[in-house]
Amino acid sequence: MAYPTVQLHINGEWRAARSGQTIPVLNPATEEVIGTVAHAGRDDLDEALAAAEQGFAVWKKVSAFERSKLMRKAADLLRSRADDIARLMTLEQGKPVGEAKVETLAGADIIDWFAEEARRAYGRVIPARAEGIYQLVMKEPVGPVAAFTPWNFPINQVVRKLSAAVATGCSIIVKAPEETPASPAELLRCFVDAGLPKGVAQLVFGVPAEISEYLIPHPTIRKVTFTGSTPVGKQLAALAGQHMKRVTMELGGHAPAIVFDDADLDLAARTLAAAKFRNAGQVCVSPTRMLVQEKLYAPFVEKFVAAAKALKIGNGLEEGTQMGPLIHDRRIPWVDGLMADARQKGAEVHTGGERIGNKGYFYAPTVLTGVGRDARMMNEEPFAPVAMIASFKDLDEAVEEANRLPYGLASYAFTRSAKTANAIAARVESGMMTINHLGLALPEVPFGGIKDSGYGSEGGIEAIEAYLNTKFVSQAGL
Ligand code: NAD
Repeated sequence: MAYPTVQLHINGEWRAARSGQTIPVLNPATEEVIGTVAHAGRDDLDEALAAAEQGFAVWKKVSAFERSKLMRKAADLLRSRADDIARLMTLEQGKPVGEAKVETLAGADIIDWFAEEARRAYGRVIPARAEGIYQLVMKEPVGPVAAFTPWNFPINQVVRKLSAAVATGCSIIVKAPEETPASPAELLRCFVDAGLPKGVAQLVFGVPAEISEYLIPHPTIRKVTFTGSTPVGKQLAALAGQHMKRVTMELGGHAPAIVFDDADLDLAARTLAAAKFRNAGQVCVSPTRMLVQEKLYAPFVEKFVAAAKALKIGNGLEEGTQMGPLIHDRRIPWVDGLMADARQKGAEVHTGGERIGNKGYFYAPTVLTGVGRDARMMNEEPFAPVAMIASFKDLDEAVEEANRLPYGLASYAFTRSAKTANAIAARVESGMMTINHLGLALPEVPFGGIKDSGYGSEGGIEAIEAYLNTKFVSQAGL
């Protein structure tokens, strides 16, 4: 499939922006312009809002049973198109095509899960204090949703929001990433081709801040969901708060990975290196601070560095590539800035620490030790293939470091002791923890952060609840 001219989807129609304006799309591995995406203006957004209003009026009356059937059809279409979509994703995002395919297929599983689970959005009957009174708790769709999604997982970030909205009977306007527009557009096409009525889901692109500032306060929009950086999330949550909109915020992280002396060293080093360098570290749950107990520290550093050095970096379409480029040219000076600061504050660079070549936004897998707590990198989310390793003496010290930052998204631990596992799970402040393996992000389990990493969940039954209002009805028979 050739890279398409990506269009808006509004009121059942795929079309250009009314102004005809477009934004170029680049391949981050080659820096070549590969296509364009339509740039929505105010008139397009007004049409999207009107369509979402009408789409909601239609869709909320369709039974959960019928919604589910349509969604399962969309999931099957997505599976059947996964090879083509994965290629588009790699062209626009840079990740290895195998990973792009896994993300696409996982997207189909997410659609299936939401389709099924929303059929069980049960209310309840509360025993009354008097005879003849019926106290009913009912679940209703919250209404038209405004969703903002980033470029690191172009399908995964959209599909969680789109599936939850469609499954619960909401309508939605998705502002998908301008950097990676084609794969989310192909995702939506699966829903449209499966028979989604017009107006239920719109897709727009443009200037993110202009779109969010217009959609969030708009009276049509009843819920806001955003995945992206903490500073932007705080701005959008504040705006949503002013207008009393329901909000889900999935923001940044700076995940601690705690390896105890009794851990399986090979397993820990192999698992954490794979997680760190996946998608060139551009993952909100990426392990960033490896905290290793003293006895295992030196051999862990050795194994982790070896794993980083062994990675094959390149164009994601090439056979055998394990890590692609960063998404933007602007990310290179950003990481270089973090590196310069870390070096100045005593970091030892075991491998990497610089851009690779001068074509494509490739950054070498980087491993640092001895990074001072005052270094920016120990405090700000690098969102890059950069790992810091530090040692600790005992559980208290590890917990103190893990909880030092305002973030609280994912955390990792490796230990053979059930007692240590229980203690660490109880004491680390994070929305998610995975112990002795990578176990995050399945559709049926909660996915979300605490503290500056946001609130709400994009997985599990909590993710359905986020798109439902609770209505209480008390009825007396006459
Ligand atoms: P950025 O903060 O400019 O953008 C991040 C995302 O938010 C993008 O998708 C962007 O389109 C969107 N965005 C930005 N301003 C917006 C606004 N006012 N209204 C609506 N959407 C807006 O940063 P970037 O350079 O594109 O990405 C780097 C940073 O973004 C990283 O440091 C990381 O913290 C964060 N990020 C997080 C995730 C995640 O999964 N949580 C994903 C991508 C990026």
